[in-house]
Parts: sequence; C-alpha cells; structure tokens
Amino acid sequence: MDINKKLAYLKENNLYRSLREFGSPQEAQTIIDGKKVLLFSSNSYLGISNNPAIKQKATMALEKHGTGSGGSRLTTGNHELYTQLEHLLAEFKGSEASLAFNTGYMANIGAISALCESDETIFSDELNHASIIDGCRLSKATVVKYAHADVDDLRAKINEVSPKGGMIVTDSVFSMDGDIAPLPNLAQIAKDHNLLLMADDAHATGVIGETGRGSLEHFGLSCDDIDIVMGTLSKSVASEGSFICGKDALCDYLKNTARSFIFSTALAPATVAAAIGGIEYILAHPEAVQKLRENIRYFTGKLGECGITAAGETAIIPIVIGGENEAREASARLFDMNIFIPCIRYPTVKKGAARLRVTLMATHTRVDMDYVVDCLKNFVKTK
Ligand SMILES: *Cc1c(COP(=O)(O)O)cnc(C)c1O
Repeated sequence: MDINKKLAYLKENNLYRSLREFGSPQEAQTIIDGKKVLLFSSNSYLGISNNPAIKQKATMALEKHGTGSGGSRLTTGNHELYTQLEHLLAEFKGSEASLAFNTGYMANIGAISALCESDETIFSDELNHASIIDGCRLSKATVVKYAHADVDDLRAKINEVSPKGGMIVTDSVFSMDGDIAPLPNLAQIAKDHNLLLMADDAHATGVIGETGRGSLEHFGLSCDDIDIVMGTLSKSVASEGSFICGKDALCDYLKNTARSFIFSTALAPATVAAAIGGIEYILAHPEAVQKLRENIRYFTGKLGECGITAAGETAIIPIVIGGENEAREASARLFDMNIFIPCIRYPTVKKGAARLRVTLMATHTRVDMDYVVDCLKNFVKTK
C-alpha cells in the first residue's frame, strides 16, 4: 500500500483529520491548543470530569493500589474496586449482575462475538456505532442490517431469514443523530422470534430516564426485556471503561468467553475508583440530570427560534451541514469564535451528511448557549 498516496487522497477529499490538544479538564470552558473556548462537543454530559470528590476517590485509590493493575482480570489485575463497581452498576441498572470491560469498544466486540454463533443471525441497525459493527464482523454469525429504527423493516428481514437464533443489537441513543431506539418494540420482536436483544447505553447512561439510569428506566423496561445492556463509563460517568448488565449467567459466560475481557490488562485502580465516584454522583444528584434536560430544552428551543431544526431528545444535537468541506469550514469558523464543535465526517457518518455534532453539558449556562446559537445562526442554512 502507498501510504503517502492514501494520505493525499484523504486531504484532497476533506477527510483528513488531526488531533487537538486539550490543556484543561472537560468542562464547559476549556483550553484547546492553548486557546480558551466554550466546549460544546464533550461526551462528559454531566460536567463532572473535574469534580473534587471524584478526584479525591481516584487519588485515594492511586495511593492505596498504585498505578497499573498489572494483569488481566482473570490473572492478577482484578482488585476490590471492581467488585464494588460491578455491584454498584447492577444496582444502578436494576440488573442481576454486571461485568466491567476496559472500554465500550471492547465490551461490544467481546460480547457480540462471544454471544452469536456461526449458524445464527445478528440484526443490526444501520446507524449502529462502529464498535457494534466491528463486533458483528468478528462474530461468525450472519449479519443483517435493518433500516434505521425501522421495526417494520426489521420484522420483514427476520421473516426473510427465519433465523435459528441470534440477536438484535442497537444503540439506545444513536451517537451521531441523538435519537432513541424503539426499544419496547424491539423487545417484543426479540421475544417473538427467540432472539437476544442488546442495547448500547453509551449515550443513554446519565442522560435518559428520570434519574439518568438509561434506556431501561426511560422505557420502564427490565433485563427480562433487554437481555444485554451495555454502557460506558467514559461519557457522562467521566472516567473510562464500560460494562455489560444482565443476568448472572450472561455475565458469568462473558467472563469466560469474551476475548476482549480475557486478553487485555484490567483498568488502573484510580480509573475504576473514578467510575465508582461518577456512578455514585449520578445516583446522588438527579438534579444534574434534570439540569442537562433543561439545557437540552432551552438550547433546541433557541435554535428553533432561529429556524434551525434540531432534535432534542438527548444531549446529542446534530446540525447537518452536508458537504465535508463546508462542515470543516463551519467548525473552523466556530473555533475562531471561541467555540469548539468538531465536524463529523465520513466514515463516521455517510458521505455528504457531514455535520456539526453539538453536545450539551449540565454545566452550560444560558449565556453560553445563547452565544453558541448566535454564532451558529450566522452560517447554518435555515429552512
Ligand atoms: C463511545 C461509544 C462506544 C465506545 O465506548 P468507549 O468507552 O469510548 O470505547 C460504544 N458505543 C457507542 C454508541 C459509543 O458512542
């Protein structure tokens, strides 16, 4: 392969990406490439990445347990904080059990590949996160994509295939569109056809449901309806890592078979302690989730007044620009106005569907949001 040629292609097609350097924590105001900006694109939705009590917990774990974990969880890397974390996660999601993984990416590839066999079928929403797509690729099962959140298309595809078994898998909150999957319908379809249902709560945890517990709480469902609830500790929980919640047998099975669980070093104790602190924060501060919801209402209302239509169900508010170059320029102009909203392009979204992916935090003020809407309306096409 000619790497230089490939790089030139990416640059010519406005698909080349580079890294920004953050010089301060993920807060509403942060320092990027040496410049103070308003951050309207973090996944740290509750704004707790710099919370003193959580940092204190992580520091204490660092002092007690040291830096690295020293091994995979099945060898030498499992520490007492994991037991605490998994108990807390099961309580938080209302499941029998929970199993922590190193990242959401690893939970998805590990669980999907471990749970689906070669004579089975995986039905996957066409807008699912890349880690789900990769999990499907790694599994030996047949993979069938269904139209986004389209239960009729899903039913038709299932009837076409008559699967021997397998799974329906979906983002609960879609990471680039911010809409919510029709989980009650999917649960019914899964039951009707004897399929497992897996939901990825990466952007649901800490955001949807009355007290921020995610998709189960949002829809009033239980682990009997959604067999596998995956979530991350890296977004609203403001640490790193992820988890699978479900029945005891499910977690026990994954512990023994998910390769990304088995063959990777456990998270550092301080990271696990921060995750515990983050979940405890959400449990103790339902008002933070309420504040986030209020911000979503306020911000989308303001956009609407300017003729910019935007979804407002979750903290992810995509503003579709279209062309890759236009989206990149819009993002650059916003940065000049001291706002950081990166553009999301192919391959993360379809070609020609490049967008500014605005995300809100509970800690954004009305002044911050007014300013961002004022700047956005200067160059976003209105209806
Ligand atoms: C971020 C994300 C993941 C991956 O989680 P990490 O902890 O960042 O690896 C998985 N699924 C969805 C929907 C995500 O948005």
